[in-house]
Amino acid sequence: MHNSRLAKIVATLGPATSDEATIRALFELGVNVFRLNFSHGTQADHARRLLILRNLEKEYARPIGVLLDLQGPKLRLGTFQDGKATLVSGQTFRLDMCSEPGHAQRAYLPHPEIFAALQPGSELLLDDGRLRLRVDRCGSDFAETTVMVGGQISDRKGLNVPSVILPISPLTPKDREDLEFGLALGVDWVALSFVQRPQDIEEARAIIGSRAWIMAKLEKPSAVEHLEAIVDLCDGIMVARGDLGVELPPEQVPELQRLIVRACRKAGKPVVVATQMLESMVNAPVPTRAEVSDVATAVYDGVDAVMLSAESASGKYPLESVEMMRRIISRVEGSSPYRDGIGQGHAPTPGATSDAICASLRQVASTLSSAVTVTYTSSGFTSLRAARERSQSPILCLTPSVETARRMSMVWGVHPVQVEDVHDVGEMIERATHTAVQQGFAQAGSNIVVIAGIPFGRSGTTNLLHVARIPG
Ligand code: PEP
Repeated sequence: MHNSRLAKIVATLGPATSDEATIRALFELGVNVFRLNFSHGTQADHARRLLILRNLEKEYARPIGVLLDLQGPKLRLGTFQDGKATLVSGQTFRLDMCSEPGHAQRAYLPHPEIFAALQPGSELLLDDGRLRLRVDRCGSDFAETTVMVGGQISDRKGLNVPSVILPISPLTPKDREDLEFGLALGVDWVALSFVQRPQDIEEARAIIGSRAWIMAKLEKPSAVEHLEAIVDLCDGIMVARGDLGVELPPEQVPELQRLIVRACRKAGKPVVVATQMLESMVNAPVPTRAEVSDVATAVYDGVDAVMLSAESASGKYPLESVEMMRRIISRVEGSSPYRDGIGQGHAPTPGATSDAICASLRQVASTLSSAVTVTYTSSGFTSLRAARERSQSPILCLTPSVETARRMSMVWGVHPVQVEDVHDVGEMIERATHTAVQQGFAQAGSNIVVIAGIPFGRSGTTNLLHVARIPG
């Protein structure tokens, strides 16, 4: 039976959510997509979780989306004498390629690619932005800096270089192994960390091909500068607010979130808002008012999905966190500000038949108060274009492809169902009316709208809109 929510929930699995009973409970509470975070755990841990998900999928006859999140390059300092050092604001601090343990005036930075890209004036952030350095002088194996914000630093802390495009691939050797492992297991989406420019998506696409859809994590200012080209090249976007808030002043993150969501909605690409959504629920059974408001704001903005990270992966209250997200989404979607605002769709792309059909869909659906829009699709294209309209009737996505059904669980308003292949329009309408009733979207006397592309099986050909009445 269908779930009446339009925005989807992505939950990260981790040590707190690895056994069958807990994963089942998360699914029953309404998680649509499960994230396997390859920054933590072993390949075997992730394979076990995926097996549990695929068994649940069979048992419930419901497609489940799985998102493999690659770690990406991690830039780290070396070690320090005594394991730590205190950097004092205003003093000089040197980074170099000497592997000796560091102290308050210098440290080992084992990344020649960073030295190659630095310039006087570049900013370096240490330990998630807690400490800041400004480069005064640099060469191919050193940088002399001034400590702008000091503090204590310890062994192997992370380093960010926000103002510079680093000449490194977003895929490390570990990522390439994890990627092949995950693709062989059959993940549906791959989230790509450390995206700096459009070519990074092309590099990943050359490996992934059509085996999974690619979600670019927007976490670097340089990626935001290439927003349109990146949105165009990938299949979805994650607003990775954790890293984005380190690389940019935190007050810029809400504005960027809005711009990114708007660009994705305009392009009809799924967008996920991630990180610290219900952070306090890692340790408490209820969220703060501000967190509730943050989730609600994303839903009001029409995002495809909201994501739980540590809350579901390692927190004390994973089930309560999902339940809280579900309650916030349901409340927002039932509210008049949401209903009044969400349907302001985007202008159709001139000359695009699919957009002309989907714009008419909005008119037809509201004139006839149709119960559901049924999209018949092999690649997911028709359902994505229909979802782009954000018209208020839910979208029942019928597809012969199990991969498409799973990928579509990320998309706003789409309830995917795998069905057998159809051979003609009559058979498709029959299948649409039958499934709309069977899945609880329509009953005798309901109008439904069916959209599809003829000939079947060719992506990008949405050209048919049909109204059907459920007999009885
Ligand atoms: C983020 O930075 O918000 C994010 C989701 O990335 P990571 O997986 O590195 O936490």
